[in-house]
Amino acid sequence: MSNPRFRAIEGTRDYFGKDGDRFDKAVAFAGELFARYGYRRMRTPVFENTELFARSIGASTDIVEKEMYTFTPGSETITLRPEGTAGVVRAYLQHSRDKQGGLAKFWYEGPMFRRERPQKGRQRQFHQIGAEAIGSGDPLLDAELASMGLRYYEYIGLMNVKLRVNSIGCSRPECRPLYRQLLRDAIRPNLDRRCRSCQTRYERNALRIIDCKNPECRKLSANLPKSYENLCRECADHFAAVKEALAALGGEFVLDHTLVRGLDYYTKTVFEYTHDALGAQNAIGGGGRYDGLAEELGGAPIPGLGFALGVERILIAMEAENGCACSCPLQVFGVALGGSARRAMSGMIARCRGAGLSADMDYEKKSFKSQLRAANRRQAMVCLILGDDELARGEIVVKDMAEGGEQKTVSIFDCLNAVRAALP
Ligand code: AMP
Repeated sequence: MSNPRFRAIEGTRDYFGKDGDRFDKAVAFAGELFARYGYRRMRTPVFENTELFARSIGASTDIVEKEMYTFTPGSETITLRPEGTAGVVRAYLQHSRDKQGGLAKFWYEGPMFRRERPQKGRQRQFHQIGAEAIGSGDPLLDAELASMGLRYYEYIGLMNVKLRVNSIGCSRPECRPLYRQLLRDAIRPNLDRRCRSCQTRYERNALRIIDCKNPECRKLSANLPKSYENLCRECADHFAAVKEALAALGGEFVLDHTLVRGLDYYTKTVFEYTHDALGAQNAIGGGGRYDGLAEELGGAPIPGLGFALGVERILIAMEAENGCACSCPLQVFGVALGGSARRAMSGMIARCRGAGLSADMDYEKKSFKSQLRAANRRQAMVCLILGDDELARGEIVVKDMAEGGEQKTVSIFDCLNAVRAALP
């Protein structure tokens, strides 16, 4: 192995080859599918004012407390975005999209940054594909979005994704605040048996105690009161309508009261997609409603909701399920021996590309055998074979690489037709 002077920084990585192809597929398929639901792409900057994230994600969340990359290059304090929703809602308000009325649907894709301890499926620069629907409180929309995520995973070939759903209510006193108090009362007697982070969360963020992954804490959490059983009337009706609509859309889900999500802006419906191949970090995506976020950021009280799907975890799941291994078979590969034949082949390959075919050739002046091996490695469907002798006769060999495929010698002028005929 070579020992290069520079390496990618811990928690970041390079994408190429199979993973590069899978990454491209994940993003391209998202754009295609989400467009059918009316989502249009939005691109926002990778850095924003630190205050935007503190206000939206919440000052006492792990992300804001200890994971943000924050800089003060001049007079402003800026942060590399740890997630995409805050930027999209900021842009929605900044460009007065709220004044146009109606529902706005956006999707995005890009790098996010969190200073977490790197491990499988957890990086410091990772990528999310997200969708946000701003301007409607309709529970049908919660169901549409959650099922769009399920459809997306199926669309890219992932068959083993599960959807977990919960409702964490709203900020009305009789809803989440009351539930939080119930929860604290139930936790208090055994608080000293819980891990340190639960103990610090008790005062500031008691809901997060329920989703602590520590085995001892999990045992203690088994019989805690459930948020979806302690909602105000409006949130309870909303949740009932979401579950009904989701079932009608064929979205299979399980109720999970331990699902609270790590960001403060969520209200009412929250959901998460999981995949078993991911181990401890089994969340492959997640989202929920954020009806108070626009107002928190200085806008009118506009309801909204969204999800973010983790690209790195999609890639791990793709690898595990293998079924959606993305190969990029080549239609034409040029095998040429001799200087004039190689130059002629380069023109031939250009003609194939001009005709809309994927085509490539050997650029390493390898032996005939090695060139054929390269064609196989690239899964070429058709090989063009040219030596200086064939060239002198104005001929070229067109070899169908499928098992039992034919090999024909044709006039160079007929080459493109012969290639088309040989392609499946
Ligand atoms: P969140 O914004 O925390 O709700 O995360 C949404 C999705 O992004 C998760 O379900 C993961 O798939 C992915 N994700 C979050 N944090 C990371 C990370 N540090 N590394 C890789 N993927 C992540």
